[in-house]
Amino acid sequence: IMQEEDFEREVKVVVVGNGNVGKTSMIRQFCKGQYCNNYKKTIGVDFLEKHQYIKGLEEEVKLMLWDTAGQEQFHAMTRAYYRGAKAAVLAFSTTDRASFEAISIWKHKVEEECGIVPMVLVQNKVDLLEHAAVSRQEAEALASDLGLRFYRICVKQNLYVSEVFEYLAEMYLQRD
Ligand code: GDP
Ligand code: MG
Repeated sequence: IMQEEDFEREVKVVVVGNGNVGKTSMIRQFCKGQYCNNYKKTIGVDFLEKHQYIKGLEEEVKLMLWDTAGQEQFHAMTRAYYRGAKAAVLAFSTTDRASFEAISIWKHKVEEECGIVPMVLVQNKVDLLEHAAVSRQEAEALASDLGLRFYRICVKQNLYVSEVFEYLAEMYLQRD
């Protein structure tokens, strides 16, 4: 007879945002503890997974993090990418104004495909603040307008990356 704790709950998370904001790097950093400046596009890798203990839930969960395989145009994302997603990261880059301005479009896209699921706004590359194309105030204002928690992270230095995924897992699973 299986005990309740034998079942590991799982969460599919999609990481969306314009190209070059650091989505692939974020997933690899979190799942593999690897970072490289010149990441070659891998073909055929849909997602990476990680078993992560979530403090707020007092359990380990399986996070499945879906990457876009470089098809960041809204129309190019396949239905399979979003299917069954329970949470989403909306990511932009500190140094890329257009990626910030695209966030609400990405949010609508996720809602269209997944319905209302937990989401977070993530600003990556905070190691490059001296080249910032977006001010802290406007990013915070956007998060507040969209009703999203806001994380400023640095995938390169592995700052606040796991917090993003832990928060989403907790948001989704605490509803059960
Ligand atoms: P994607 O197109 O959104 O998947 O972005 P990638 O993960 O391929 O990253 C695009 C570029 O940004 C790569 O050269 C990464 O090494 C770089 N990058 C990712 N995260 C950071 C970061 O936190 N700081 C800096 N300086 N560069 C980063
Ligand atoms: Mg990528």
